[in-house]
Amino acid sequence: MSFSVHGIAVSSGVAIGRAVLVASSRVDVAHYFVDADQTERELNRVRVARDEVVAEVCRVQQTLQEMPGKDGHVELAALLDVHLMLLQDEHLTDGVKHWIMDRRYNAEWALTAQLEVVARQFDEMEDPYLRERKADLEQVVERVLRAMRGVVSPVVQPPAPSRKAPQGLLLDDTIDVPLILVAHDLSPADMLQFKQSVFAGFVTDVGGKTSHTAIVARSMDIPAVVGARSASQIIEQDDWIIIDGEAGVVIVDPSPIILAEYGFRQRQTEVERERLSRLRSTPSVTLDGESVELLANIEEPKDCVSALRAGAVGVGLFRSEFLFMGRQGNLPDEEEQYQAYLAAVLGMEGLPVTIRTVDVGADKPLDRSRNAEDHLNPALGLRAIRWSLAEPAMFLTQLRAILRAAAHGPVNLLIPMLAHVSEIRQSLAFIDKARGQLNAKGQLYGPVKIGAMIEVPAAALMVDVFLKYFDYLSIGTNDLIQYTLAIDRVDESVSHLYDPMHPAVLQLVARTIESGRAQGKAVSVCGELAGDVTMTRLLLGLGLRSFSMHPSQVLAVKQQVLRCDTRKLQALARAALAAEEPALVMAG
Ligand code: PEP
Ligand code: MG
Repeated sequence: MSFSVHGIAVSSGVAIGRAVLVASSRVDVAHYFVDADQTERELNRVRVARDEVVAEVCRVQQTLQEMPGKDGHVELAALLDVHLMLLQDEHLTDGVKHWIMDRRYNAEWALTAQLEVVARQFDEMEDPYLRERKADLEQVVERVLRAMRGVVSPVVQPPAPSRKAPQGLLLDDTIDVPLILVAHDLSPADMLQFKQSVFAGFVTDVGGKTSHTAIVARSMDIPAVVGARSASQIIEQDDWIIIDGEAGVVIVDPSPIILAEYGFRQRQTEVERERLSRLRSTPSVTLDGESVELLANIEEPKDCVSALRAGAVGVGLFRSEFLFMGRQGNLPDEEEQYQAYLAAVLGMEGLPVTIRTVDVGADKPLDRSRNAEDHLNPALGLRAIRWSLAEPAMFLTQLRAILRAAAHGPVNLLIPMLAHVSEIRQSLAFIDKARGQLNAKGQLYGPVKIGAMIEVPAAALMVDVFLKYFDYLSIGTNDLIQYTLAIDRVDESVSHLYDPMHPAVLQLVARTIESGRAQGKAVSVCGELAGDVTMTRLLLGLGLRSFSMHPSQVLAVKQQVLRCDTRKLQALARAALAAEEPALVMAG
């Protein structure tokens, strides 16, 4: 039966494919297809790992028997019995075999896919004791996954085999069947892993439009819906689904007519994309001759390829924190960071690269285990520059790496989330210290322009003071909106109040642009607003001439720029600033 689930549209386009349900605690397993002649080997990897875990459990049982007399032992022994039973459960092993043999999933993926299926059955059990055994099942699967890490897996990901659409669906049955990831939640680090993966779209139960998970989905330029509440519970493994990334809707088990309609829309998107690609080398200049800088936001050095392909004239925001996340505390050292920054600098072929110092915390925890929940109010806690200043050795390491990369091309250094002059002074002192350390070691480094992000209302309100210290400013509207309106950007229950057009937000943005202009210093916007084509006219009217966004949005924004006359937009911007409801001014 066909039904739809509604969420928040975060990355446009249409994706049609089969659902792959992933439990968020296990998302860091690899997902790839194996060739037919490799399925036996994958099955064997599962068998070997499972046998290892069985042997381990038996060993523990043996030890327990040799240490009689302890009360807890009886319960533990019973629990281990349950684990042994689950490990040998046919339903689990047969299911894994199905995913590997019929679907050609790699072993880890097959195991987590079957875990989802069986876990659901546990959820539906009436007996509370049996229901609680789901946790045991998850534990044993995690142990098998851990054991599997020791079992060699292919280094090179084999190409996806051709997979057919089921009969009766109006899909061209010679095409590969795309897969759509459905999860309760995905951390930004998980998303980054999936960047290299096979998925054609994402659906998550939680998240807001500017949560970092949504931001990474947008950077991948694939349709995504977040905040879809219980999607991961009602969608089943392998269901056919459509993601309408424009409307924020997920259609489950669509009828042939709906499929045909969305197939058509998919092709239209392709045609539009193709049309936009012709603007790649057109200079970004308005009708009245104003040149507008269009820069790219990147998460990893390899994103430079898409930045250049989109015709971006530099990187306006390299979110360096993605180098730091999901590493179980094993942070990148100076050399590793230097290599990453250098790769971005060289990748941009002489165009400027703005590297933001690490901005972890809130919805970008370093590790899943050190989760945001550890803090009462993570978005207001030890994040971004606050964390860097609290970890001097880490901060100096990063600064040295950035300064060294600057010897090889134009680099701008950007500091996130500053609010106090004392933080500005400390940050600048650290930069001087990092230079001193490099001098002492006789290491080569280059000049950098130093900029501040304006993403806290306090910074926007004292922008003139900021301008005394910095070469340029970059407005982080994602956080500026969050902190001005007191709306958690990750919380879908308040996402309807997350309003970029709120007069208070517009006034802070306008004030920052205006002050930068008055002092002859560059100001750009690097929040998601910069890539939102419905905001381009207003931002140009406010005087903005530098926009930084995901490479996938550059050409669409350029198209807007080419159609605008900024002289006419100033009046619009003035009216929006003066209005109680600017959105009405824009619509009219
Ligand atoms: C912002 O806050 O607008 C920004 C660009 O930084 P991030 O989204 O990484 O917090
Ligand atoms: Mg921010």
